[in-house]
Amino acid sequence: MSAMRLDGKQIALEIRNEVARDVQQFVAAGNAPPKLAAILVGEDPASQVYVRNKERACQRAGIASQLDRMPATTTPAELLERIDSLNQDASVNGILVQLPLPETPVGEPALDERAVLDAVDPMKDVDAFSPINVGLLMQGRPRFLPCTPHGIIQMLHRSQIETAGKHVVVVGRSEIVGKPMAMMLAQKNGSCGPETANATVTLAHSRTQNLAEICRTADILIAAVGRPEMIRGNMIRPGAVVVDVGINRVDDRLVGDVAFAEAEQVASAITPVPGGVGPLTIAMLLHNTLLAAKLQAREGAVG
Ligand code: NDP
Repeated sequence: MSAMRLDGKQIALEIRNEVARDVQQFVAAGNAPPKLAAILVGEDPASQVYVRNKERACQRAGIASQLDRMPATTTPAELLERIDSLNQDASVNGILVQLPLPETPVGEPALDERAVLDAVDPMKDVDAFSPINVGLLMQGRPRFLPCTPHGIIQMLHRSQIETAGKHVVVVGRSEIVGKPMAMMLAQKNGSCGPETANATVTLAHSRTQNLAEICRTADILIAAVGRPEMIRGNMIRPGAVVVDVGINRVDDRLVGDVAFAEAEQVASAITPVPGGVGPLTIAMLLHNTLLAAKLQAREGAVG
C-alpha cells in the first residue's frame, strides 16, 4: 500500500484564498485592512525565515503587516514595553512574538517566554497562547484557535477524514501543538463541526511507556515531538492516518518526526515534510488576524 499524501500546500492555498476574499469584503464594508504586528528578537535564522514567510503571506491576503526587530540584548522591560505599545495601537489587530526568544547573556535578566506571551492583549493574541484564550478553548468556546492544531483540523476536514469516535494518539504535549491538539479533538464540536471533533484522545510524551504499542492502536497518529523520524513504520497501524508536525533540520534537509518512506507503506494517508502541516499554520494565522480585526471592529461599534 502507498498512502495518499495530504497536500498541506494545496489546502493552505485554498484557505488563504478564502481569507483573501473575506479580507476584501471586510475592507469593502469600510474597514481598514487587518494588520498583524510581529516582534522578532535576535537573529535566529529559522525565525527570520518564518517571519518573512508570514509577512509575505499577509501581503498576498491583503493583510497589512509590520515587523519590529529587536536585538538579542533586549531586556524584559524593553520587550514588555514594546508589546504594551502594540496593545495600545488601535491600528494593530494581531500581535505575534516569534519564538523561541534568544538566550540572554550570562548576568543579564532572562526573557521569560511565559511572561512575554501573557503580556499580549488577549483580543490581539492571534497565536492563541494567552491564558484567557487557552481557557476559552478548554471550555469549548474558543475565541482564537492555535494555528498549528487548527490547521490540522482543517486539513483533516477538507480531506474528508473524520475524527469522531476514532482513537487519535497525539505524541508530544507542548503548549503550542500537542496539548491544544488533544483538547480540540476531544471537544464535542469544533471549527469544522462535530465530525472533526469527538475523538478519543491519547496524549503521549517522553514519560509514556510502551509508546510503540500505543501508537499502533491509533486510527489517527499525530506526531509533534521534534525528533527526526522517531515514528517508525512498525509503530503505525495498517490503514492509519499519519500527521507529521515535526520540522527537523538534518544535514541541510528538512525531515519530520515520522520515517516517511516506511510510514507511507503502512498508512492510508500521510502528510509530507515539508509541504504538510507547515503551510497550514501560516494560513490559520491569517485567518486569526482577520478574525481579530472583525472582533475589534464589532467591539468598537458597540463601545
Ligand atoms: P516541544 O519541544 O515543545 O515538545 C516536544 C514534546 O515531545 C514534549 O511534550 C516531549 O515530552 C515530547 N517528547 C520528546 N521526546 C519524546 C519521546 N522520545 N517520546 C515521546 N514524546 C517525546 O516541541 P513543539 O511541540 O514545539 O514542536 C514539535 C515539533 O513540531 C518540532 O519539530 C517543531 O519544529 C515542529 N513544529 C512545527 C510546526 C508547523 O507549523 N509544522 C509548528 C510548531 C512546531 P515532555 O513533555 O515529556 O518533555
